[in-house]
Amino acid sequence: METMKTCAYCDNAAIYRDRESGCWLCLPHARFEIAGPRGKIPHPPVTIRPATEIDQARLLELANYFWHETEIECFDHVYQVAEIPAYVACDEHEIVGVASYARQGDAINIVALHVAPRWQGRGVASVLLCTLIDTARREDDVKQIVVATSNDNLLALGFYQRFGFVITGILPGRVLEQHGGVEMIGFAGIPVRDEIQLALRL
Ligand SMILES: [Zn+2]
Repeated sequence: METMKTCAYCDNAAIYRDRESGCWLCLPHARFEIAGPRGKIPHPPVTIRPATEIDQARLLELANYFWHETEIECFDHVYQVAEIPAYVACDEHEIVGVASYARQGDAINIVALHVAPRWQGRGVASVLLCTLIDTARREDDVKQIVVATSNDNLLALGFYQRFGFVITGILPGRVLEQHGGVEMIGFAGIPVRDEIQLALRL
């Protein structure tokens, strides 16, 4: 399948793509750099729609690919990716981006948001997030959108803050605990340890 690629440095699954060279990169081998203008990447024609039952296998496959699990823990809840609603972004062949979410009190919790490397840098994640924000605004009793990420995920921390999310909580060591104390190496070689919570007030 088009989504699944191997890192240019190692045999790990590629989670990102070098937007200049086109090389595929796993999490630890991706690097954060200061970059200037590089010309516009064309936005591919993607369709956004709610996920249905027939998408379940693909949603599980993508969750396994990106997170190595289909059960996602955040805000002291455990969510099964197959059982919660999602919006999906599709190109002409397949689902290339997913935003899974769940109601939690007066909030919509973004449980997982990921875009296949080939389609990154083309506004797909932004469109998925805007769709979720619109959905939340239509529900009178939804007061905020919340999301949890990990301390290494600098791209997510930047992405959500650009949309107006603010950091509301840091749970030191929480992600490390969830992985049974086994330290995983995350984005750009940063150890994965803490849950960082953000919220957008509506
Ligand atoms: Zn690698």
